Amino acid sequence: MSVEPLEPLIYEISKPGRTGVTMPDPDVPTTEIPANLRREELGLPEVSEMEAVRHFVKLSQFNHGIDIGFYPLGSCTMKYNPKINEAVARLPGFAHVHPLQPPETVQGSLALMYMLQQWLMEISGFQAISLQPAAGAQGEFAGILMIRKYHLDQGDEKRTKILVPDSAHGTNPATTTMAGLEVIELPSDDKGDVDLDALKKACETHGDSIAGMMITVPSTLGVFEEHILEIVEAVHNVGGLMYMDGANMNALMGVAKPGELGFDVMHYNLHKTFSTPHGGGGPGSGPVVCNEKLAPFLPGPVVAVVEEADDDVEAPLYGWAMPEKSIGRLKAFQGNFGMHVRAYSYIAMYGTGVADVTNYAVLNANYIRARLKETYHEPYDRACGHEFVLEGHWPQKAPGIHALDISKRLMDYGFHPPTNYFPLIVPEALLIEPTETESKEMLDQFIDAMLKIAEEAEKTPDMLHEAPHNTPVRRVDEVRAAKELVLCCQPLHLTEDVSSSEANDAPAKETVTS
Ligand SMILES: *Cc1c(COP(=O)(O)O)cnc(C)c1O
Repeated sequence: MSVEPLEPLIYEISKPGRTGVTMPDPDVPTTEIPANLRREELGLPEVSEMEAVRHFVKLSQFNHGIDIGFYPLGSCTMKYNPKINEAVARLPGFAHVHPLQPPETVQGSLALMYMLQQWLMEISGFQAISLQPAAGAQGEFAGILMIRKYHLDQGDEKRTKILVPDSAHGTNPATTTMAGLEVIELPSDDKGDVDLDALKKACETHGDSIAGMMITVPSTLGVFEEHILEIVEAVHNVGGLMYMDGANMNALMGVAKPGELGFDVMHYNLHKTFSTPHGGGGPGSGPVVCNEKLAPFLPGPVVAVVEEADDDVEAPLYGWAMPEKSIGRLKAFQGNFGMHVRAYSYIAMYGTGVADVTNYAVLNANYIRARLKETYHEPYDRACGHEFVLEGHWPQKAPGIHALDISKRLMDYGFHPPTNYFPLIVPEALLIEPTETESKEMLDQFIDAMLKIAEEAEKTPDMLHEAPHNTPVRRVDEVRAAKELVLCCQPLHLTEDVSSSEANDAPAKETVTS
C-alpha cells in the first residue's frame, strides 16, 4: 500500500520569490562566486517563515514518542526521560567543554564521570569500569574482547567459544563473531530458562575451548534465570568467564547485583536503564563494568584520581589513566559525555530510590501480564521481570491474525506497539515492557485496547488486517520501504511515481518471501 501525503508538502506550496527572511545589506565588499562553484537551480522550496514552521511542526506530529503516549516497546526500556536531565546536560559548563581541553580545565566534568563510575560500580557490584563504549552492543564487544585477552594473557590460546542461549538478543552472537570467537547456541527449556542439561553437556564436550558465556538476566523472555548460580558455577568450573548482558538492569538495580551473582563482566545501557532519549537510534552509552580479574583489560582511558584530596587541597585532582593491559580505545575522545551527564542526573535524583524504579517496573509488567493472560496465550506462565512475552495469534479462534495486525491496530488506539517477532523462539511474539513511569490508569487503557483487539480479531479480522486506520501513514510495505528508501522530501509528482501501479504490483510479495 502506498503512502498518501496528507498535506501538501513544502515543495507544493513553494512560490517563486517568496522568502522567510530578509538579509541585511552586506557590510563587506561583494565578490563573484567562481563559476565552477555556482549552481543556477538549487531546487529549494521558497516559502514564508510561517509556512516553514508549520511544515516542520506538522512533520514532528506524525511521529509517536514517549512524550506523546505509552511506548511499551519490550527490550528497549522506553521510560519517561525526566526533563531535568536535559536541562543539566545543556548547562554551558558541560555542553561547551572541548574533548581536547587539558584535564586541569575540565575538573567538574571529570568529577561527574568519576562519580558516575562509582555509582555504576556500586549498583552492579563490580570493582572496575570504563564509560567509553557508545552503546550496549559496543559494551558487549568490549567485554568479550576483554575475556579473550584475559585468556591469551594466561597463555591459554585454545579458548575460542562462547556459549549463548537461543533467547539472546541478536547482538550477543554478533558480538561473539565480531570478536573472532565462535558461538555455541544453548536451547531454552519449557519454562524459558537455559536448558541446564544442554549447558552441562556443552561444558563437558567443549571444556577447555570455552572462553565464556553471555547471558541476559532477566532474559529477553522477561523471566529471571532460576538456575543462574548453577550456570555461573558450571562455566567457571571449566575455566570460562561469565558475561552478563545488562540491558535489563531496569529489573535488577537496587535489588540484586550481578557482581555478587558471580559474573565477571557486564555492560549497562545507560540510554535504557538511566533514561536518556533513544528513540530513532541514538546516541547511546554502554559502560562496561567488571571484577578485579578483568580490570586490567578494560578499554580506556578511564577517569582516575591522580592526586588525593588532603588537608591543603579540598578536592581530588582527576585525570586519565589507561588500564595496564587494556584492549585499547573503542571510541573517540571520552565516549558520549552528554549521556553520562543525563545518567548522573537521573541517579542523583533517585539516590537509593533506584530500587523503587525496579520494583514498579516489575509490578507494572506483572499487572498487565495478569490481566491479559486469559485472553492472549502466554508461553511462559510465571512471574516476569520488567517485561513479558505473549503470543499474538489465535490459530483456532482467529486464524489469519498475526502479531503484526495486533500491533498495527494498537496504533489506532494511540499506543506504540510492543516489540514484534522477538524473541525469535516464541511464535508471533509480542514483547511488552510498560516501564515504571506509567500510571495504573494508563496501564488499564492499554489493557482495554488489547482486550478490545482480541474481540475484533474474531469479529472483524479484515479491519485488523488493514490497520492502522487513524495514523498519518497507513500500513506500509516494510520490505520495500527498507529496500527503496526515500530519505528526502520530494515533490508530490515524485511521491506518486514511487507508488505508481508499476512499482506497486508484482515485486512486493516476492520480496517478502525472498
Ligand atoms: C538493547 C539490547 C542490546 C543492545 O543494546 P544497544 O544499546 O541497542 O546496542 C543488547 N542486549 C539486550 C538484551 C538488549 O535489550
